Amino acid sequence: MRYKEKNRLPLALGDGLPLASSGVLASGLSLASGLEVKENEDLLVFINDSSKAMEDLQDVLDKKFTPKRVNLGSLSDTYFDLGYIKRALLVADCGSFLEFHVFDYAWKLKAANFCKDRLCPMCNWRRSLKIFSQVSQVMNYLEPKGYQYLFLTLTLRNEPAERFPDMIQSLFDGWRELYHENKVFKKVVEGTLRFLEVTINHKTHTFHAHLHVVLAVYPDYFHKEYISQSQWTEMWASASNLDYTPIVHIERFKAKPGSSGLGSAVAEAVKYAMKDSDYLVDSDTWRPVYVETLLRGLSGRRLFGKTGCFGKAWRDLKLGDPEAGELTEDDQLREDIDYMIVRYGWRNGVYVRI
Ligand SMILES: [Zn+2]
Repeated sequence: MRYKEKNRLPLALGDGLPLASSGVLASGLSLASGLEVKENEDLLVFINDSSKAMEDLQDVLDKKFTPKRVNLGSLSDTYFDLGYIKRALLVADCGSFLEFHVFDYAWKLKAANFCKDRLCPMCNWRRSLKIFSQVSQVMNYLEPKGYQYLFLTLTLRNEPAERFPDMIQSLFDGWRELYHENKVFKKVVEGTLRFLEVTINHKTHTFHAHLHVVLAVYPDYFHKEYISQSQWTEMWASASNLDYTPIVHIERFKAKPGSSGLGSAVAEAVKYAMKDSDYLVDSDTWRPVYVETLLRGLSGRRLFGKTGCFGKAWRDLKLGDPEAGELTEDDQLREDIDYMIVRYGWRNGVYVRI
């Protein structure tokens, strides 16, 4: 039997029934206390057939979570071959348990066994979603206060694997010098969001590391205090002590035509630090080299940093640490909104309800 619309149980505020604190049934379904549910199976059928949130969740599970889970095998096997047994085991199990809270038209990932390994495709994807959400909030928060944004890309030339850790050190040293010592920079820049990105050239097997930086400036920058691209290039070459001319890009942040607000512009800035397709290559010779090189060069490094007005906004908005924090949704649920708890386990290559 299917539940008719009038028998529908409240899953979110606004369904017209009084909601009390949630009680979790053995089926994993969370219902308002005081409601009697005699036919759990039918109720689940009703939700599976009708809930848009569940349909959307299933879609995301199939199209986003599943491909990342499948990719973990390659990284785990490579760690085993390199002798990093603990890492291999943690990565192999990453995201094999997922717990969602499902509302009427929305869902949230509330618990999972993520490994937080630096090269984990699943964790890097979750981290990038989190950073995107936090950066969007911060930029939207600051924009009405009169800040405008620039997007700066700072690069060094490609280096072979053995030079990669030194290259990362040079990049971070150069950034610190530019940020702390350059008088022009200090005068015009009110805050920064810094993202490290690493790419690999598969023909020359060299590594390319660069920093994407969002700069907050006051409108005066575009009149009295404007810095040209060649000045930015000189400033970066000098801060990094380079004997060649580096590639430096600077542009004003603008939302793309037809898009709403800063969303698409932020997405351009907040890229994955590393794409897993870049290092989980189909070569038993090069995959271990790429994985080990990235691991050595990036361990202990902050891939993301914030300063000035961005750091303050982060505190004002009470946002967590996107790198060290949990990779689930950490915002507080309202106590008066009811939801279902839905759990999935990874079994034989697919996610199944548990
Ligand atoms: Zn992971």
